[in-house]
Amino acid sequence: MHIYDLIYKKRNGGALTAGEIAAIVTGYARGEVPDYQMSAFLMAVFFRGMEPAETDALTEAMLGSGESCDLSEVAGVKVDKHSTGGVGDGVSLVLAPLVASAGVTVPMMAGRGLGHTGGTIDKLESIPGFRTALDRQSLVRQLGRIGVAVTAQTERIAPADRKMYALRDVTATVDSLPLIAASIMSKKLAEGCDALLLDVKTGSGAFMRNPDEARRLASTMIRIGEGLGRKTAAVLSDMDQPLGRAVGNALEVRQSVGILRGEGGPEDFVALTLELGARMLLLAGAAAGKEEALARLRGRLSDGSALNKFREMVEAQGGDPAVADNPDRILPAARLTREILSPAAGYLSGLETREIGCAAVMLGAGRARTGESVDHSAGIVLLKKRGDRVAAGEPLARFYHNGPAQLEEACARFLGSCTISEEQPAPVPLVSEL
Ligand code: URA
Repeated sequence: MHIYDLIYKKRNGGALTAGEIAAIVTGYARGEVPDYQMSAFLMAVFFRGMEPAETDALTEAMLGSGESCDLSEVAGVKVDKHSTGGVGDGVSLVLAPLVASAGVTVPMMAGRGLGHTGGTIDKLESIPGFRTALDRQSLVRQLGRIGVAVTAQTERIAPADRKMYALRDVTATVDSLPLIAASIMSKKLAEGCDALLLDVKTGSGAFMRNPDEARRLASTMIRIGEGLGRKTAAVLSDMDQPLGRAVGNALEVRQSVGILRGEGGPEDFVALTLELGARMLLLAGAAAGKEEALARLRGRLSDGSALNKFREMVEAQGGDPAVADNPDRILPAARLTREILSPAAGYLSGLETREIGCAAVMLGAGRARTGESVDHSAGIVLLKKRGDRVAAGEPLARFYHNGPAQLEEACARFLGSCTISEEQPAPVPLVSEL
């Protein structure tokens, strides 16, 4: 099969067969198709889109480029949650132990920060000693013993996606619906869960900024998951401002431990965690209805069971369990802080969330290139959220940093992301149905 002909066909709006798509993907994974041909193919898909059958075939080809993890030895329904990526979205840190403490097994395979978005693996690695590379045997053992594990995707899971994602990142082809759907689902389907809840973000910090596009992405991923035998559900959630107050690895872990310890936490963060948790219990068939599921989860949070499960998980993965009791002593802390002051009085009416994610990356909380290390202590705490009243000169946010070269640029970027208006903005729903 000539790769040139397949690129030509897609470029002209034709639909490729499953065999043709497999030829491109497997050829690329094996190093037989060069980057320049894959780049042209990705750009053709970006402009021409894909038919549902093509997106399914792309997912299967990417899934088939690597190994799948067999978790059938672990009893019960295994449920995972995947977020399409956002800023301040540390929900998994609370959600995984919370749902496990309610009796549902959670094998969570998570990623690192990507572009302006954070990643659960980077966040957990701010706990000293925490191991995120678990082999299958350790994963199965841990799930059988405590019902929860959060691991990094291994090199062997969907290797075609890793290569294709790196190329998309530098060829402006990330925000394409079929490419995102196939990328996410090929990895999620390889991890061996029985059911999957997708948290599809929409707004200025999401890959899909527009709710209609986010809805189409969600439906596409549900179709792919169900078609491959997994119970799959999705919600749309707001990413038009960062979730919670903390943006940055150790800062987000600190916020999550506070919630698990019953110290309270940002309303939107807690509400989304409970909403997703309830849906996971329903997917697992572990609750008769949403109210029952919510009540059970609130109980596990307030009686300390979710905190205990978090402590067990940290200990099982080699981290210092004292983080659950004394996070300020255990977590790395930045040497310096800087407050970002409001230039005017009024209401904080808009936050360009992607810019806030980029500002956090500049402080060191994320990486500009794959493979770079991150400063786990760096990040941003939002002192004001959308809709809050602010006086001129009042702090909007506090930066935590260790003197990065791009500090001034990060401050300017943050300030540029905020809109202050005379009128209070209308509230935006946190979660919407498809
Ligand atoms: N997350 C992924 O894993 N892939 C994408 O393409 C976008 C978000």
